[in-house]
Amino acid sequence: MSWEDNVRKVIPYTPGEQPKSRKVIKLNTNENPYPPSPLVEKAIKDFDAGLLRKYPDTQATELVNELAKTYGLKSENIFTGIGSDDVLALSFLTFFNSQKPVLFPDITYSFYDVWAELYRIPYETQALDSDFRIVSADYLRDNGGVVIANPNAPTGEELPLTEIEKIVRFNKDRVVIVDEAYVDFGAESALPLIEKYDNLLVVQTFSKSRALAGIRIGCAFGQKKLIGFLKDVKFSFNSYTLNPLTIAVGAAALRDDAYFKEITAKTVATRERMKKELKRLGFSFGDSKTNFVFARHERLSATEIFQYLREKEIYVRHFKQARIDNYLRISVGTEEETDCLIRALEELVSC
Ligand code: PMP
Repeated sequence: MSWEDNVRKVIPYTPGEQPKSRKVIKLNTNENPYPPSPLVEKAIKDFDAGLLRKYPDTQATELVNELAKTYGLKSENIFTGIGSDDVLALSFLTFFNSQKPVLFPDITYSFYDVWAELYRIPYETQALDSDFRIVSADYLRDNGGVVIANPNAPTGEELPLTEIEKIVRFNKDRVVIVDEAYVDFGAESALPLIEKYDNLLVVQTFSKSRALAGIRIGCAFGQKKLIGFLKDVKFSFNSYTLNPLTIAVGAAALRDDAYFKEITAKTVATRERMKKELKRLGFSFGDSKTNFVFARHERLSATEIFQYLREKEIYVRHFKQARIDNYLRISVGTEEETDCLIRALEELVSC
């Protein structure tokens, strides 16, 4: 017997690499290539450091009120956390307490199985079809809860809202979490469904479309009762998560809707151009509705392309996982970064 026998052992999630060099073209973690709104910069400059003497507002009222205004909800429908990772982890802890398995796709956000293992939640993965699409029928059976990333990651594919609604409707006796980390880049949100279904939790993040991965803000939307349970668990864990600077920054970002629309539209336009160029160079991929493209090449292996781009200081993501190990997930950068990527790939392909 050793103390090690009583340790909760987990294999942690592996985040994408954050290189030290500023020269690197970083297309490996789906960050926004544009800076946050100028209103965010102003909020940081105007921030009163004296506020840090006190504990923060546990309800993150300023941020929650701004979210309520932005999405036409009441504050009782909103939960906030330190990035959507925090929100999702607490949601797993709160809602997935059945002996029956929680269901999610075999190829999806690779944190889901980590949280399931951490909390010892039984789970079963459902295979994506050969086009890497979620098969909604696989989620219409007895289970302990469902979590779907929509659009899915790392595939970028969107499951139509009618299919999401089928899953939510069928599973009315357990919670369905829809992780919408990438929804703002052209997919349809399940947010309008929360009025109709008390078992639906929609999770979003400020990390991608609002260019704030570094400040760590995530949120969840649902009916009052659902959000209440989530808050009870959060306040049994750590009351003070969002600090006053984060709250001010998040609220400022939401106040600049024009900027948000401008940078998301730019990313969508660049993505569509990138798709055309990649196709011309012999890549194939699905119809991404996100800020990344998940692509394979007709001739060259993903490992070969990954290494080559790395030498050129262009970082992309390669998952060494069954079914997807010959694919690369390439984030959409600025126009200039995309030009560099395409030029580098042109050279490689013509060799
Ligand atoms: N969900 C999905 C599908 C993601 O890809 C990510 C980003 N890694 C997250 C959630 C978490 O993002 P964040 O914690 O930055 O909000």
